[in-house]
Amino acid sequence: MESPHGVYRIGDSGEAVAEIVGKLQRLGLLTGGHDVYDEATANAVRGFQQERGLMIDGIVGPQTYRAIDDARWRLGDRLLTYVPSHPMSGDDVLSLQAKLQELGFAVARIDGIFAADTQRAVTEFQRNMGLPADGTCGPSTFKALQRIRPMATGGRPDALRAREAVRAAGPRLSGKTVVIDPGHGGFDYGWEGYGLRESDIAYDLAARIEGRLGATGVRAYLSRGRDQGPDELARAAFANETDANLCVSLHTDGSMNPAAQGVATYFYGNDLHGATSSVGEQFAGLVQREIVARTDLLNCHTHAKTWDLLRRTKMPAVRLEIGYVTNPHDSARLADPAFRDVIAEAIVVAIQRVYLPPDQDAATGMLRFGQLTV
Ligand SMILES: [Zn+2]
Repeated sequence: MESPHGVYRIGDSGEAVAEIVGKLQRLGLLTGGHDVYDEATANAVRGFQQERGLMIDGIVGPQTYRAIDDARWRLGDRLLTYVPSHPMSGDDVLSLQAKLQELGFAVARIDGIFAADTQRAVTEFQRNMGLPADGTCGPSTFKALQRIRPMATGGRPDALRAREAVRAAGPRLSGKTVVIDPGHGGFDYGWEGYGLRESDIAYDLAARIEGRLGATGVRAYLSRGRDQGPDELARAAFANETDANLCVSLHTDGSMNPAAQGVATYFYGNDLHGATSSVGEQFAGLVQREIVARTDLLNCHTHAKTWDLLRRTKMPAVRLEIGYVTNPHDSARLADPAFRDVIAEAIVVAIQRVYLPPDQDAATGMLRFGQLTV
């Protein structure tokens, strides 16, 4: 399909608009019929632009058009080959590059464009797998890529770099920078239940963590004031500006179902792009285990997500959902200041454990605030 070179916005109609609407529908971003580029179409485009890190204007210009077109391809949908005059691009190429990189076949950049470097990496992979080494990705190469698993995530160059940065930072907490991000705020209270507001609990916890970190010489910054509610992008930008070592986002969960309860921790991970923050995953595991060991909150485990705060922060970041304010058990705990101190200590200990070399690390639930390496 030829790419339209125009710019499409609210009020436009015609063949190109129908095509854009069709693509947004296939991506699951838009439902229903839209003969005209209407408000719903513009909203779908904005959502897509935000997700893809494009400028969010709700208008389809050439760059957004290309990104929408790229997004429809999944690895295995089509044959991938190097066409020097007109390199193929798409999310399938992005997945291929991430996978090759993970397996140790280096590409220059994971950019979603099948250029000479990707062809070289594919050829090398095929040779290693005993496949015809033609540099073209067809069914047998897809199958081989699907079958083979990396030896360990630690082998990935980007993961090794991130671990090295942690090692180089040393075990001492003093001198490090941590951004604490209390969720919601302003007119956005988050979940409410049993007289509790998520935004208030998050802020209270943030202040408790800030105090403890300050006592160990950590520069701790809160991403918002008590009555402010910046959006996720502003929070991520703030964290990046401080050049923080770590970022901790604090939330409590909620549900229409009062039985839902427990604590969960999220880190950046994207199955589609094969990208995961290895330090973020480790940090999430430590936070989750410390909280579970010190409290009676149900263990809802750690999970990879692509939420903006996790994806757009340059440093390892985690987001905690500490209990359900809509659950009688969890809300009773969260209402207790002593319980919030326990949570704050668990998080500070987890921050310390990210930096402790394995031989100095303590068992989960054992390390106390007074034993931190300041
Ligand atoms: Zn929340």
